[in-house]
Amino acid sequence: MLARAAGVARLAGRALAALVLPRVCAVCGEFAGEDGSGAVCDHCWTRIAWLPAPACSRCGHPLRPGVDCTWCAALPPYVRAVRSCCWAEEGPSLAIVHALKYAGWRSVADGMGHRMARLDWPWDVVAERTALVPVPLAPVRKRERGFNQAELIARVLADRWKIPLWPGCLERVRATETQTRLTPGERQTNVRGAFRAAARAPDLRGAHLVIVDDVITTAATLNACAAALCDAGARIVSYVTFARAPALGDRR
Ligand SMILES: [Zn+2]
Ligand SMILES: [Zn+2]
Repeated sequence: MLARAAGVARLAGRALAALVLPRVCAVCGEFAGEDGSGAVCDHCWTRIAWLPAPACSRCGHPLRPGVDCTWCAALPPYVRAVRSCCWAEEGPSLAIVHALKYAGWRSVADGMGHRMARLDWPWDVVAERTALVPVPLAPVRKRERGFNQAELIARVLADRWKIPLWPGCLERVRATETQTRLTPGERQTNVRGAFRAAARAPDLRGAHLVIVDDVITTAATLNACAAALCDAGARIVSYVTFARAPALGDRR
């Protein structure tokens, strides 16, 4: 009797969800399939510009044949590796990022996280990564948005990689101007000293932390987070993002 009641309740819940949450793709608005497996349709996932091989083994940036990696120079020495899934460019990849960040389409984070979980890392990163740390939002922005998109993605990664998620580990010391319209130099200045390890952060000594964000552009924000974590005792950090801004001359 109880099992039957639970079954009916489950069906009613599904029907209600189908009414209020039409299964349309967050990117193209077309029907996204009956199985409810994602907020983005298969066709839109196939249209994404994934990062091409070969890529630098450290920073993960695609390499041009015969040319040494120049992107690694943007990283401080305590950054072990960086990985991203796709280029951040007009089209489905940025539409996915914006659907999550600005349209509050939270379930998009699942598809992003599942693809990020399959990224290829140097063996030592896999062996020693201690925990995931999402880039924190300023409290006022988190209140407006109701969630931190980096934390939603990091939750999926923590589940797939079976490592802890430390969302309260870092905090913003001050709100920063949005980085979108700033030059690389201005981005560095804008976020310098903007983060610190929270007083109630876990013991970071000796840790290899993986910092999570939706997009990496100049690495200024992630580098500022890394500096704060290493100041608080972390030994080494890696970065993982869904998308990566192309640099001048990149193969597309
Ligand atoms: Zn679509
Ligand atoms: Zn590199």
